[in-house]
Amino acid sequence: MKILVTGGLGFIGSHTVVELANSNFEVVIADNLYNSKEDVLEKLEKITGKKFKLYKYDLTDKTKVEEIFNKENIDGVIHFAGYKAVGESVREPLMYYQNNLISTINLLEVMKKYNVKKFVFSSSATVYGDNGYTRYVESMGRGETTSPYGTTKAMIEKILEDLYYSDNSWNITLLRYFNPVGAHESGLIGEEPNGIPNNLMPYVMKVASGKLEQLSIFGNDYQTVDGTGVRDYIHVVDLAKGHVKALENAPAGLNTYNLGSGKGVSVLELVTTFEKVNNIKVNYKVVDRRPGDLPEYYADASKAFEELRWKTEKTIEDICRDSWNYERKMNN
Ligand code: NAD
Ligand code: UDP
Repeated sequence: MKILVTGGLGFIGSHTVVELANSNFEVVIADNLYNSKEDVLEKLEKITGKKFKLYKYDLTDKTKVEEIFNKENIDGVIHFAGYKAVGESVREPLMYYQNNLISTINLLEVMKKYNVKKFVFSSSATVYGDNGYTRYVESMGRGETTSPYGTTKAMIEKILEDLYYSDNSWNITLLRYFNPVGAHESGLIGEEPNGIPNNLMPYVMKVASGKLEQLSIFGNDYQTVDGTGVRDYIHVVDLAKGHVKALENAPAGLNTYNLGSGKGVSVLELVTTFEKVNNIKVNYKVVDRRPGDLPEYYADASKAFEELRWKTEKTIEDICRDSWNYERKMNN
C-alpha cells in the first residue's frame, strides 16, 4: 500500500514515516520545508534503510498536488502538513486559515478526482475546547475553540464529516492528539522549534542545555495534584504507531480517536522526572498563570485501544530520556 505523508519531514510526520516503513508501507512524502529541513530525509533513510520519494511542494498549489497523484499510485493519505503555532495563529489568522484549510481542500479534491478515499487527519485535543471536564471522551463532541489554529482543526473535522455524509465510500480517520513530545531513540529526529519555544518540553530542554536561563512554570495554584497544570504527554513514537494502526485497523466510515496515554502529568512532575532520569538540574521559577491555559485535561484513550488495538507503550521517563538524548546529539 502506497501512502502519501504530507508534512512528512516535520516532527510527527517524520516519526510516522519510520513506523510506516517498519510496517512495510510504501511512503511518498510531500513537504514544502516551511517548518522542516531537507536533511531529515537522509536521517529517515539512515534509520529505516529505505529510500523515500520527496515532493518539495506547497499543497496550497493544487496543480502541484495533482502532479503527485498523477505520478504516484497513491492508496491513502496521512495529512500532517499545516501550521501549528497557537500564538502566531492569533496574530496571523488569515495565514492559518489560508494554509491549513486550502491545502486540505486541495488534497481532498484531488483525492476525489483520483478515487483515493482513505484519509487520516492530524487533529488535536484542542477541538474539545473548555468543556468543564478533565477526561476527554470522543463522544463529548467539539467545544468552542480558543485560537484560529484550533478553529482550523475544528473546521477541517467538519469539512471531513460533510464529505463523508455526501459519499459514504470515504474512509476517514480523525486522530485527536494530546501533547506530543519525545524523540526517536536514535537521537536523529525530533522536534526543533524555531526561536524561543512556547511548549513546555522544548523549553525544559533549552534550559537544561543552558541555552535559556530559567523555565517559568505558569501557575501553581490550580486545583490539581500539586497546583501546576496537568496534561497528557504522549511519546511521538507511540503517536506515530497510532497512525499505522489507524491505517490497518480503523473500521469503514468516518471515525474519531483520541491519541493519548490516558494519564495526566503535572508540570512539576515532568520537570522532576526530567531531572531524575537525566541527572541534570532544570532551573525554574513559578510565575503567574498563562492566559487561556486550562488547569487539567487528559485523554480517555479506550476507544483507540478497543477499535485500533493501539495504546501507548512508552513512559514519561522514556519521554524525558529520549528528548534529552536528541537535544544533546543535535548539538554535537
Ligand atoms: P511540524 O511543523 O513539525 O510539521 C508540519 C510539516 O508540514 C512541516 O514539515 C512543514 O514544513 C509542512 N507544511 C506546512 N504547510 C505546508 C504546505 N502548505 N505544503 C506542504 N508542506 C507544508 O508539525 P508537527 O508537530 O509534526 O504537527 C503535524 C500535524 O499535527 C499538524 O497538522 C499539527 O497541527 C498537528 N498537531 C500537532 C500537535 C503538536 O503538539 N505537535 C498537536 C496536535 C496536532
Ligand atoms: N507550561 C509552563 N511553562 C512553559 C510552557 C508551558 O509552565 O514555559 C505549562 C502550561 O501552562 C501547561 C503545560 O505546561 O500547563 C503544557 O503547556 P504546552 O504549551 O506545552 O502545551 P498546551 O497543553 O498548552 O498546548
